[in-house]
Amino acid sequence: MAQKELRDLVTETKKQLEHLRVLGVEGIQISAPVAPAITAPQPKIMAPVAQRVEPPQVPTSSEPMTSLFGDLTPAPVKLTKSTETFEQIHAEIGDCTRCPLHLERTHVVHTEGNRKARLMFVGEAPGADEDAQARPFVGRAGQLLTKIIEAIGMKREEVLIGNVNRCRPPGNRAPTTEEASTCKPYLLREIAVVQPEVIVVLGNTAMKNLLDTREGITRLRGNFQDYKGIKVMPTFHPAYLLRDPSKKRETWEDLKKVRDYLDSHRSTDR
Ligand code: URA
Repeated sequence: MAQKELRDLVTETKKQLEHLRVLGVEGIQISAPVAPAITAPQPKIMAPVAQRVEPPQVPTSSEPMTSLFGDLTPAPVKLTKSTETFEQIHAEIGDCTRCPLHLERTHVVHTEGNRKARLMFVGEAPGADEDAQARPFVGRAGQLLTKIIEAIGMKREEVLIGNVNRCRPPGNRAPTTEEASTCKPYLLREIAVVQPEVIVVLGNTAMKNLLDTREGITRLRGNFQDYKGIKVMPTFHPAYLLRDPSKKRETWEDLKKVRDYLDSHRSTDR
């Protein structure tokens, strides 16, 4: 190695180590085999031959810091397929009293639809019509959702439709964080059973709960997100579209992306 290269390497190494010290790292373990010192026996008669010594690998500024720290980027979590059935999950939910929403509900509203669906819609919680009929998205917002589904060339029966919460919050308020986190695990178990290829999250509550994000729907809508390897498309809630029909155009753009994704990833095993 040329002198200059070696000098640069030492300087770079010092910089890296100083950087680590500032970050609070007190020592590093070098697991790469240390190159042998230049003490290998030389042939006696011949003049000593310059031996090439490779220094231990040191990350350069253009390299990720992974070789010193170990892999810092968390491995992507993939959803493992569950062998549970919806019936088992719903039986476990039973006549649920796990959160205060049970006090004023009429029915627990379970996820419904095709259990081999490629596409799933997730909303917030049942409203008055859903609470009365024990079915998700059957009121005015639900009728608009059905139209949205048909607009992308699918039938309502082809998809899966559920909510973060299964009991109607009084006055249709948004479920509290506690209420949502009590109910959400059942939705996640259903998702693990069906493993849809795409989940459309409708509005802020559904999006924040599925994606564990603090971002708002206006920022994330229209861009595919990830839930354990499943594509997630955030878009506006149909109830919001009823209040502000001008947002239908953006929702249509979002749903076209979903349609195009499903069209270009036709699978045979469903
Ligand atoms: N709004 C929702 O979020 N879910 C429903 O089921 C109905 C209205």
